Amino acid sequence: MYQMFQRAALLAAQTGWKDLKYYDAMYFFITIPIVFIYGIVVGSFLNVVIIRIPRGESLIKRASHCMTCGTKIRIIDLIPVFSWLFLRGKCHSCGEKISPRYPIVESLTGLLFVANFLVFGGEIFSFNLLLMCIFTALLICIGFIDWDTLEMYDIMSYLIAALAIPSHFLTDSGLTVWDRLIGAACISVPFFIIGEISGIVIKKKTGEKVRGIELGDSILMACAGLYLGWKAMIPAAFTGILLAAIFGIIIKAVKKGESKMAFGPYLCMGLLIGAMFGEEMTNSYLEFFLSSMEPDQPRNFYTSLIHLIPLR
Ligand SMILES: [Zn+2]
Repeated sequence: MYQMFQRAALLAAQTGWKDLKYYDAMYFFITIPIVFIYGIVVGSFLNVVIIRIPRGESLIKRASHCMTCGTKIRIIDLIPVFSWLFLRGKCHSCGEKISPRYPIVESLTGLLFVANFLVFGGEIFSFNLLLMCIFTALLICIGFIDWDTLEMYDIMSYLIAALAIPSHFLTDSGLTVWDRLIGAACISVPFFIIGEISGIVIKKKTGEKVRGIELGDSILMACAGLYLGWKAMIPAAFTGILLAAIFGIIIKAVKKGESKMAFGPYLCMGLLIGAMFGEEMTNSYLEFFLSSMEPDQPRNFYTSLIHLIPLR
C-alpha cells in the first residue's frame, strides 16, 4: 500500500499532477476493471477445466457446447458472466437451464485476481502477481473438482510446486530455501500422519479403506508450502481447518446422512488467505510473543525455542 502511494506520488511529480488523490483514483479506476476482465476470461477457461478434466475430455478438441442438447455455443454467447446474464441462465437452443456455477466461477476468478492485484502492490506488470494469479487459478480448479468428485488431481498440486522455482529466482519473495522446505513439511507431514492413523482406526472399526485426511490433501499442502513458505502455511492450514469445521457442521445440518465431505475446497480457501495475509499474520504473532518478553529475562524452554525460529 505504501509503495503504491509512493509510486503515485512519483508519477504525480513527473506529470505535474497536483492532486495526488485524483491521480491515485484514476489509476485504480482504469487498472481494476482490466484485471477483473482478465480474471473472468481466465475463469471461463477454468470452467472448462473443472468440467472436462474429471471426465477425461480434451481441453481444446471440442468447442464449448450445451450440456443438455450438445448444441455448439455461439460466439456471442461465450462472453463470460454477461452472456449468462443476457440469456437469463438458459441455453439459446433448447432452453434448458445453464448452471449458475459458470458465472460464479468466472466472477470469483475476477474478484480474486483483483484482490491479488491490490494485496501485492497494485502493479499490473509484476511477475509476482502473474505467479499469484496462476496459483489462484490452480486452487480454484483443485477446490471445485474436489467439491464435485471428492478427488484431487495431483498434477495440479505439482504445478503449484513448480511455481516455487520462478518465485525463488525471479521475484523478491524474501523466502530462503529453508523457509520453503519447512513450509513444504510443516503441514503436509502432520496431515499425512493423521491420515494414516485415522485410516487404520476407520479400517478397524468399519472395515472401510478410507482416510480422515486424503493423501491428495497432504500433497497439496506440501506443494503449496514450497511456493509460499512456512510463515504463510501455518495460518493457511488453521484457516482451512476452521472453515472446514464451520462448513462441515452447516452441511451436516442441511444434508442429513451425508458422511463424506471434501476437505480440498476449504484448504484452497485457507491457502488463498495464507498466501495474501499469512506472512503478516505470522510475523505479528511472533512480534507479539517477542515483545512480551523482557530483554534481560532469563531464557526458559519456551523463550529459547522462540529464538531458534529464524526471524528476518
Ligand atoms: Zn441446449
